[in-house]
Amino acid sequence: MASILIIGAGGVSRVATTKCAMNSSVFTKITLASRTISKCDAIAKDIKDKFNVEIDTATIDADKTDELVTFIENLKPDLVLNLALPYQDLTIMEACLQTNVPYIDTANYEHPDTAKFEYKEQWAFQDRYKDAKNIALLGSGFDPGVTNVFCAYAQKHYFDEIHYIDILDCNAGDHGYPFATNFNPEINLREVSSRGRYWEEGKWIETDPMEIKMLWNYPEVGDKDSYLLYHEELESLVQNIKGLKRIRFFMTFGESYLTHMKCLENVGMLGIEEIEFNGAKIVPMQFLAKLLPDPSSLGPRTTGKTNIGCVFEGIKDGKKRKIYIYNVCDHQECFKEVGAQAVSYTTGVPAMIGAKMIATKEWSGEGVFNIENFDPDPFMDELNKQGLPWTVKELD
Ligand code: NDP
Repeated sequence: MASILIIGAGGVSRVATTKCAMNSSVFTKITLASRTISKCDAIAKDIKDKFNVEIDTATIDADKTDELVTFIENLKPDLVLNLALPYQDLTIMEACLQTNVPYIDTANYEHPDTAKFEYKEQWAFQDRYKDAKNIALLGSGFDPGVTNVFCAYAQKHYFDEIHYIDILDCNAGDHGYPFATNFNPEINLREVSSRGRYWEEGKWIETDPMEIKMLWNYPEVGDKDSYLLYHEELESLVQNIKGLKRIRFFMTFGESYLTHMKCLENVGMLGIEEIEFNGAKIVPMQFLAKLLPDPSSLGPRTTGKTNIGCVFEGIKDGKKRKIYIYNVCDHQECFKEVGAQAVSYTTGVPAMIGAKMIATKEWSGEGVFNIENFDPDPFMDELNKQGLPWTVKELD
């Protein structure tokens, strides 16, 4: 039915590529291209051994629009799933525009030298995608991604107006290392060490990093300290949810993670500007990322669960209502199924589902869309079928 080009061959890509292979009636041809072809080949081999599905592999430098355009013109895929890093979003979007192929990603564009977490530069493609009658689907991971779909689902089925949303992201996994990140270290540490921000009554309110903390009881996990962070889905949700008065994002961190991070920050290891060292130019954060365990190697040793969801408060039929929609995922179960831990799994599965929505034309349109712009129902059905079942709980 559809030929998909997947770019990037890290932890998230391993899951999404495997899940595309498990949906081979939709994805009849799968090409995996990345900077390091050996990583593509390793994923392709595991999929061939386990599911007897062929994956074509190739080398691509996704920083180079011209190279991408030539590659896409030769391959003629029906859609491109960008699972490289956020730094490559604009070049891949541009190449998809020039070749008129639908574009899907899981994270907003990041400037290599400033941490901004904003959609501005991707939303700037709006008119050109509309004119080309092409589609870009932004943020089809878990958060952003599934959390936005939970918001659209709550808005459609449970509320007339949603006033408060707290997005609650808990990873209670244990990988046994004193310090490691569960997805790309550079992106993860940039996000966590930035100033916090939330939206209330039409205004953005800034906080110091980790200034606001609350204890939340996560179903199937237990009580965890949760810290307010800025997260990119807030930017689109404040525009798309009716009647919103406040939206915040919280993530759990253990003491050891926070102590290591503070120490690394204090000694300058989280710097993203180039410095000179022994005649070579290095970026401290990139050097640190080289030293830390590769997130895709954490799968076999990570135990425990993730719980990511949203708590909504608002009004239905004139009465106050509070509900919690969440998914629980077990690291070891994910590893058994696709050879990756739950953080990669919870991102890679929705990336495949987003691609499936576009491939099957269940979701269609012209322009640049955030995921909550579409009907959440078929996506929610797929989550249940593809390994990320969700629960809706009424709270008092
Ligand atoms: P990894 O670092 O494990 O993988 C990134 C892959 O991209 C690597 O294979 C890397 O190549 C490749 N890559 C980097 N630069 C280029 C380039 N110029 N050209 C071609 N390929 C390139 O990251 P993850 O798998 O952990 O994350 C993938 C994406 O998912 C990221 O954008 C991340 O922000 C996003 N994410 C989204 C989440 C969500 O819930 N929405 C949650 C977690 C992650 P090489 O192997 O050579 O380094």
